[in-house]
Amino acid sequence: MNNHHKLIIIGSGPAGLTAALYAARANLNPIVFEGLQPGGQLTITTEVENFPGFEHGIQGPELMDIMRKQVMRFGAKPEFKIVTEVDFSKRPFTIKVDKEVYTSDAVIISTGASAKLIGIESEQTFMGYGVSACATCDGFFYKGLKVLVVGGGDTAMEEATYLTRFAEEVTIIHRRDEFRASKIMVERAQKNPKIKFITNAVVKEVLGKNENGKKSVTGALLQNTKDGSTFEVKTDGIFVAIGHKPNTDIFKGQLDMDETGYLKVKPGSTYTSIEGVFAAGDVADKTYRQAITAAGTGCMAALDVQRWLEEHELA
Ligand code: NAP
Repeated sequence: MNNHHKLIIIGSGPAGLTAALYAARANLNPIVFEGLQPGGQLTITTEVENFPGFEHGIQGPELMDIMRKQVMRFGAKPEFKIVTEVDFSKRPFTIKVDKEVYTSDAVIISTGASAKLIGIESEQTFMGYGVSACATCDGFFYKGLKVLVVGGGDTAMEEATYLTRFAEEVTIIHRRDEFRASKIMVERAQKNPKIKFITNAVVKEVLGKNENGKKSVTGALLQNTKDGSTFEVKTDGIFVAIGHKPNTDIFKGQLDMDETGYLKVKPGSTYTSIEGVFAAGDVADKTYRQAITAAGTGCMAALDVQRWLEEHELA
């Protein structure tokens, strides 16, 4: 059969590439469809200091580049292609990249998750120039400055607390006056003298300037969610921390997901609700969301695939 493979891996972050490494070394000749952001979320980070094996840390893009090369050394083929449609209703499974049709005995889904954004135009205009969705990546640039953190969940509390290492003042903007975050995380933020709160407010517009092509954020236009009134606050940066969205839209209706779209896997394994389809990394993990845990589940997925193919005499 044309374009038939034993294993297709969808997604090329630490989960997908670790799965590819193990599968390639088991002679499964996997194809990796890299997706919109080859290398995944680590490619938009800077220093990674918590990936074991790099005593002095490593830049996120460099780490992913090394992983990619390591995978290719064993014959796996990362391809810069975006999967547009899948059909898991019969085996072999069908995977489409626009008009190209592939079939595969097994599939590993490692499409990750993406940071949710507020969805206003000015947020896009200043993204990377004062607007960020990753405090760990960009906090360092705000030494002695003022920043806003948008959100009321654990991520917002954690990022606000983290940002006080650099920023002089951190203001949490939350659309309600109750927090979704756990009590202990809220209390930690409340006790921090550098953190202020503005509740019942949303960001209507990011305010900034563009001087000779150099964009920077100067403030935000906020709107009170109770009475609709608007007011401005000054700030040097805005961190959006309103959660993540798993990249599972193309699998809707085919695989079991939780209410927020994360793929469900059989506990202690990477088996999804369809036999022969496995999930690894953030796409099935809203709790840990670390490069190393993604890599770990990527390894699990490749081993699960190997055993499953053997059981079905497809290896
Ligand atoms: P989350 O729990 O879904 O919280 C998202 C927050 O953003 C909510 O407060 C929500 O407001 C707000 N929000 C959503 N859309 C918004 C919008 N368009 N405009 C303004 N605000 C908006 O997401 P998360 O904080 O990323 O946490 C995700 C999961 O990871 C949770 O299970 C969390 O416990 C876990 N986590 C744990 C830790 C830890 O334990 N160390 C750290 C980080 C994350 P509403 O409350 O009004 O909906």
